[in-house]
Amino acid sequence: MRNNTKQVKIRSVLVGGGAPIAVQTMTNLPVTDIDGTLGQIERCMGCGCDIVRIALPNKQSVVAFAEVRKQTDAPLVADIHFDWRLAIAAIEAGADKVRINPGNMSLSQLDAVIDCAKLHDVPVRIGVNGGSVNKDVLESVGGSRPRALCVSLEKYVRYFEDRGFDQIVLSVKSTDIQETVETNRLAAQLGYPMHIGVTEAGLLRQGLVKNAIGIGALLLESIGDTVRVSLTSDPVDEVQAAKDILVSLGLKRGVTFVSCPKCGRCSIDLENTAKQVYDYVKNIDKNLKIAVMGCEVNGPGECSDADLGLAGANGSCVFFRHGKRYKTVDAEHAIEQFKNEIDLLTNDN
Ligand code: SF4
Repeated sequence: MRNNTKQVKIRSVLVGGGAPIAVQTMTNLPVTDIDGTLGQIERCMGCGCDIVRIALPNKQSVVAFAEVRKQTDAPLVADIHFDWRLAIAAIEAGADKVRINPGNMSLSQLDAVIDCAKLHDVPVRIGVNGGSVNKDVLESVGGSRPRALCVSLEKYVRYFEDRGFDQIVLSVKSTDIQETVETNRLAAQLGYPMHIGVTEAGLLRQGLVKNAIGIGALLLESIGDTVRVSLTSDPVDEVQAAKDILVSLGLKRGVTFVSCPKCGRCSIDLENTAKQVYDYVKNIDKNLKIAVMGCEVNGPGECSDADLGLAGANGSCVFFRHGKRYKTVDAEHAIEQFKNEIDLLTNDN
């Protein structure tokens, strides 16, 4: 059962209020590279991304953003750090949501952004991070950074509410996983959709581990309505990782892929086989379990709940369904034939 939050709409995507958890990422090129940005958006949306965020650091970037907006129907979030005028220009250029840190604006500037968002019916993501912690607030909550961050966040939530605006999404991120989890637990009590992730998590492998721990811990507590896996890598990797986390927890439709760690019993090129099969199935939008195992000793038994499996067997590969073998194929032709079996299975469903 998901946390019962308010709901916002980001173009066609509902976030919070029981809607499916939305996957998002951020383009990593200057938006003034319009073709490059559109290419990244297309690749991300093509592999299951729901929402794309774009950094708008200056006026030229908002002009470029307006052009990107015209050329894609993807839900776009404008990421603004300091300049309230850019937030307003982005909304007027067709942003479907803006992300701001209200701590970087005066209250009158914030009022102007809220009024513009209200006029255009565009949700606002309120983001606070470690830098938002005020020393006096920190002392008043006994030095607890999660509590201090949530005091800052709640102050802004009430400010938006007092201006009659509740189309907000909350985010409280930290590079420290425990702090991220504790802060999000507190922030979730405010009843608004939560954007979750571990920020500045690092390069691909390290970043995947940190994000899986932080995001996974929160999702297991039913906290989180939209997910961004932050990686120093291609945005497509962020999308794929977010999907893998959600599918692994049964929170999104998709393929659960299983492969064994390989040992001395393995008789096939397991790594290559597993990579090829995974690439083939990773974007299938159906609940399936596909297994690739190194040998038939443990393969069928360990994957008895797989819809389709392949196991190496002395220069051949055994195919099995739900743990029962039904076909033996030369290793040389196994990958192509296995892909055919996957096609048959996905067409059947
Ligand atoms: S399935 Fe076979 S090859 Fe893979 S780890 Fe188990 S025993 Fe080893």
